[in-house]
Parts: sequence; C-alpha cells; structure tokens
Amino acid sequence: MRDWVNLAVGSRGGRGSRGSREWGVWGENINLINLFNTFNQLIMRELKALIFDVDGTLAETERDGHRIAFNRAFAEANLNWIWSESLYGELLEISGGKERIRYYLQQYHPDLMEDLDTLIPQLHQDKTNHYRHLLSLGEIQLRPGVKRLIEEAYQEGIRLAIATTSTLANALALIEKHLNPQWFEVIAAGDIVPNKKPAPDIYNYVLNKMQLSPDQCLVFEDSFHGLQASFDAGLQTVITLHDYTKHQDFSLASVVLNHLGEPNNNFKIFKGDMNNKGYLDLELCQKLIINY
Ligand SMILES: [Mg+2]
Repeated sequence: MRDWVNLAVGSRGGRGSRGSREWGVWGENINLINLFNTFNQLIMRELKALIFDVDGTLAETERDGHRIAFNRAFAEANLNWIWSESLYGELLEISGGKERIRYYLQQYHPDLMEDLDTLIPQLHQDKTNHYRHLLSLGEIQLRPGVKRLIEEAYQEGIRLAIATTSTLANALALIEKHLNPQWFEVIAAGDIVPNKKPAPDIYNYVLNKMQLSPDQCLVFEDSFHGLQASFDAGLQTVITLHDYTKHQDFSLASVVLNHLGEPNNNFKIFKGDMNNKGYLDLELCQKLIINY
C-alpha cells in the first residue's frame, strides 16, 4: 500500500516540472485518478478471514499439555524423571517426541541400562494417551483473548481457518473442547501439505481453499517458524509470544504481544501500534489490514 501512496504523491512532481498549463491540467487529472484508485484500494481492503496456528497460539499445549503428559508417562513407568518448565524449554529444541526422550536420556541419564528401542516408543505411546486425556478433560486452557476474538469473528461473519503442523486429531480435540469445529471453514493440519512450517505451504493451501488473497487475512502465530511460513505466503502476522518463544526473532511480524488480551487482562505490546487498546478485537484487526 505504501508503494501506491508514493506513486500517487510522486505524480505531482511530474506535473510541476513540465511548466505547461495544459500538461498541468492533464497531470491534475492523472493525480486525481491515482488518488481515487488509492482510496478505492483502501476501502476495498477489507478483513475477510482470521487464520490461527494451534500449538502455542490457541493454547500453551507444550507447557500445559505435552510436558505434563511426558511426566505422567514417566511416573507410570516408575521412572523418576520430571521435566520442569525450564528443562522442557531446552528439550523443545529437539523436534519430535521420541527424539526428545532420546536426547534427554543421552544428556541426563547416559548410564541407563535399558533397551531404548523398546522403552522410548512405549513411553511415547503412553505420553500420547495422556495428552489426549488431558485434552478431553479440558485441562489445557485457551490463551487469553483467543475465545473472545474467535467468537466475535464468527458472530460478525469473518471467516475462520486453522493452519497447524499438529495432527488433525489433536487440533480437533482442543477445538472441540473449547470452541466449535463448525466455526472453521478450513482446518488444515498435519501432513495435508508435503512441507511443514517454516515452509509457506500450509498457508498457501488455506488461501487457495478459501479463495482469498493474503491481504484479506490476518494470521496468529507464536513462533519464528510459524511466522516465517505465514510471511512467505504474503500474510500479515500477529505474534503472541510465550516463555518458550520469547527469545525468537519476530522482526517480520506486524504486531508482537504477550497474548491477545482481555478487557480485564490487557496485553503487553512488544511491537505495533494498538491504538491505546488493551485487547485485540475485530476493529483493531481491520485497522491492521488497512495499514498493511
Ligand atoms: Mg505454534
């Protein structure tokens, strides 16, 4: 949009430099046309959809879900291993649950006399069962502002979608417990595209399914990888960071907050102009789209 405005402003210089009255009138017309087109683009630029990541964005599933589930699986196997919030932050550098357990054992229990090729898959299966159980009980809460904003969007006819690398079963379990899967026009999850985030494939898939252009949508993410994926799809992103992602580079984001905020629990702003509001609502989302 800034290029468009510059183009309109720049055309004024062309008129003045010619020094001819006829050309001046002609230039004025071009200028008016440019301004009209710019204005037209501004009023046509309208928020159509909100697209949400799941893990870390809708809920702190790693801290409140997977970590707890790992600890329960360990306890059930009579293993005296406890993954604290800070230790788990370190272990999150390793992708994949089984790989994470193996890395932990190499680092913290290198002398363990067990058949790891039997133990690790069993622990991971138990952990998955515990995680699903936690989800079904509703013990993994949504982050502040998530339900409020999604409900407002649904009531106002703003289209909704999910773009996650989590499995469809896990994403649905969280959404069914706290929201309503019917509200989401597209739930793109897991292996639905060949290349996971940070590749932009999942966002391109959602845009294609919804037949929307990137400048009509606002994305919500919590991590650098998610931001890279949405940015490379041409989308504007609101980051709600947390302890496990607060050290990451979010310079590509339009807005960086600690959460979406509530009227009685305002967000902290790390980047972006939030019009002196303390929580993100549809009006602010629309402003972000216009100013993009
Ligand atoms: Mg995430």
